[in-house]
Amino acid sequence: MRKPEFMIADPVLSRRLESVLRPTPDGLWCPEGAFFIDPPRPVERAVITHGHADHARAGHGSVLATPETLAIMGERYGRDFAVHAQPLAYGERITVGKVELSLAPAGHVLGSAQATIRRGGLTVTASGDYKRRRDPTCIPFEPVPSDVFITEATFGLPVFRHPPDVHEIARLLRSVQQFPERAHLVGAYALGKAQRVIRLLREAGYDETIYVHGALERLNRLYEHFGVDLGPLAPATGSKADFAGRIIIAPPSALADRWSRRFPDPVTAFASGWMSVRARARQRGVELPLVLSDHADWDELTDTLTELSPQEVWITHGRDDALRRWAELNGLKARALHLVGYEDEDDD
Ligand SMILES: [Zn+2]
Ligand SMILES: [Zn+2]
Repeated sequence: MRKPEFMIADPVLSRRLESVLRPTPDGLWCPEGAFFIDPPRPVERAVITHGHADHARAGHGSVLATPETLAIMGERYGRDFAVHAQPLAYGERITVGKVELSLAPAGHVLGSAQATIRRGGLTVTASGDYKRRRDPTCIPFEPVPSDVFITEATFGLPVFRHPPDVHEIARLLRSVQQFPERAHLVGAYALGKAQRVIRLLREAGYDETIYVHGALERLNRLYEHFGVDLGPLAPATGSKADFAGRIIIAPPSALADRWSRRFPDPVTAFASGWMSVRARARQRGVELPLVLSDHADWDELTDTLTELSPQEVWITHGRDDALRRWAELNGLKARALHLVGYEDEDDD
C-alpha cells in the first residue's frame, strides 16, 4: 500500500477520526467498534457492504451485513462462510462497541449498502461500490449527510459518462431483430449485472424465454426470492438450431470458452462500464459492446460529492487522481487511500 496522501487542514477532525475510522493495510478499521469494513483478509469482525468477491470474503469470525448480502455470501461460500452472521436491515441503528452503526442503500447490486458510523457527533460513511441511476434490481442509493464520505472512483475520469441503460438494451434488441438467424450471447457479471440485464429486457417488453449459463442459476433464484421478477428463464442447453434469434446470458469468462461454440454464429455482447473503451471491447472480441455499469460514472461521482459536501472525502480505489483534483478545485478536502485488493468485478 502506498502512503496515503494527506490533504487535511483540520487537525481536530483527524484526531477524532483516529478512533472512529482509519485506513490500514487490512482495510478500513473502526477502533472503537473493533471491526473492519470489507477487509481483504479474514478478520475477527467484518462489516460487509455487498456480495462482490473483492468486498465479501469468506473466513471472517463474525460478519454484519444486510440480509440480502448474507444470503449472497451463503450462496457463494456455503452456509458456514463465517462463524457468526448478523443481519442488519437498511436504516436500523445498532451500537457496536462505542460506535453507532447503520446501513443505507448503495444502489450497486441487491443488498448493497453504505456503512455509516456515528460517534460523538461525528458521522463517517463508507459507501462501498455505488451508482446513482435507477436499477430495477436494487434499492436506490440514499445520500447520508456525513462529515467524512468515503467513495470509490472506478470510473473517476471525465471521459467516463455512461449512457442511459434503456439505450443500451434497445441496441441489443435491435441487433436481435436484425440477425434472427444468430444467437446473442451477452456476457454479464453473475452477481448484479446479469439480473439487471434480464430485468431491463423485461422492462423493454421482451417476454421471450431468456437462456442462462448454469453459473447464474443460483443467484437468479436468489434475486427472485428477494422479489426481483426475472420472467421466463431456461438453461442454455439444447441443439444449435434452438438458439437462433435467442438471447443467452453468461458470465464474461464463458464468452471465450468452448461452451460458447454450442450457439449458432453468436453475436458476442458484453455488458460493462468498460465497454465505452473501444480497445477493451476489441481485446475481448466483443462485437456488440453494451455500456452498462453498476458503478457511478464521473457525473454521478461528482454530483454525489456536491450533494453531500462533506468536510472530507476519502477515495478508496480506482482513478483517484482526477476525482481528488476535482474535489479540491471545488473546495472539498480529499484524500486518496490507495486501498488494495479491490477491483472492478467486470475487469477480470
Ligand atoms: Zn461491487
Ligand atoms: Zn468493488
